[in-house]
Amino acid sequence: EGVTWGLLPRPCHVLVLLNPQSGTGCALQLFRSLVEPMLAEADVAFTLFVTERPNHARELVQAGDLSQWDTVAVLAGDGLLYEVVNGLMERPDWQAAIKKPLCTLPGGSGNALAASINHYAGNTRAFKEELLTNCTYFLCKGLYAPMDLVSLSTASGKHLFSFLSFGWGFISDVDIASEKYRQLGNARFTVGTIQQLAGLKVYKGRLSYLPVETSSSVSSAPGSPSEQKSHHVPCSNGRPLHILPQPAHEGSWPEDPLLVPFDQPVPKHWTVVPEEEFISIFAIYQSHLGADFTMAPMAKLHDGSIHLFYLKAGVSRLGLIKLFLAMEKGTHLGLNCPHLHYVPVRAFRLEPFVSTGLMTVDGEPLACEPVQGQVHDQLCRIISG
Ligand code: ADP
Ligand code: MG
Repeated sequence: EGVTWGLLPRPCHVLVLLNPQSGTGCALQLFRSLVEPMLAEADVAFTLFVTERPNHARELVQAGDLSQWDTVAVLAGDGLLYEVVNGLMERPDWQAAIKKPLCTLPGGSGNALAASINHYAGNTRAFKEELLTNCTYFLCKGLYAPMDLVSLSTASGKHLFSFLSFGWGFISDVDIASEKYRQLGNARFTVGTIQQLAGLKVYKGRLSYLPVETSSSVSSAPGSPSEQKSHHVPCSNGRPLHILPQPAHEGSWPEDPLLVPFDQPVPKHWTVVPEEEFISIFAIYQSHLGADFTMAPMAKLHDGSIHLFYLKAGVSRLGLIKLFLAMEKGTHLGLNCPHLHYVPVRAFRLEPFVSTGLMTVDGEPLACEPVQGQVHDQLCRIISG
């Protein structure tokens, strides 16, 4: 399977999924005032779908006929794109569906993928309307590129797909605690950080990983897409939708050839971190965690890597603040903090000793339990600069 760059066809038709609650609640207004005029100028037709509740978009892309749209754009935060990626992967025809070019139009408080794509395009840092303008311009140009996804499995049997990050501990708690400051937009992370610093916790667990440099070039064995008949039902915006039968996951999802079941120890060529007390463990697969938060400056859209960071217990509050300030520009590794470790990996496993705090996947909360994951090279496609 070759690398799948491409251009949207002309004329082109985009499905825009919009979360009116995301960010400061202005997504619809931003669409009308900023996005719609640019699409009109570029002769890009659109269908707007405004979500009414969590998982609305996920259900739509999981069951709907997407063939009438050349790309699915998300005007919201990373959370709605996470719904879309997982909805696509839940389809019986996921293998074809996940190749539908996706597009992120930042309208939320967490727009990490948009900030990353803006960065890869060589643009200087942009916020709010400027970042949205840049990303809408990318959509108008119509160039898409392959993007890696990471499959995550939990000990209780959950299976999800992630395009951005997995976290536990400090950074993850900031993301969750700051949810209640959503109205602050981007500033919510700053407020959340200060709040979390006051009650710094230690997270105990075992972390293991397969470094990029020791991993053999095992490629995933894709399952076969199952051909199933669909029937037609009306959609909320009046267009007919083809609802497919419920997905059968067993045997139809991409396999994780690098992982072994949780009841088995990790393979011998993996590295097991000797320390078991952490402030934070963070796996990120794109450069930015926020518009002003460059966590992995070395990351690319499809570099086949999970950029794994872990911060060992014992770091001082001042040391932590210095690290956080440096993360704005991505210079934190240059501080040579002895508590901060970085390694690019192909797979990892985290086994918490106690269920402390919540974990996050792409900024969305996940109950704390053993988790393991591996990268799937270039599984999806995204509109990029
Ligand atoms: P933000 O960046 O502000 O967090 P997101 O787009 O990430 O915005 O959305 C946050 C959460 O809101 C996601 O978990 C998503 O599932 C949920 N959501 C989506 N649509 C709606 C809606 N119409 N009302 C409330 N919540 C929604
Ligand atoms: Mg979010």
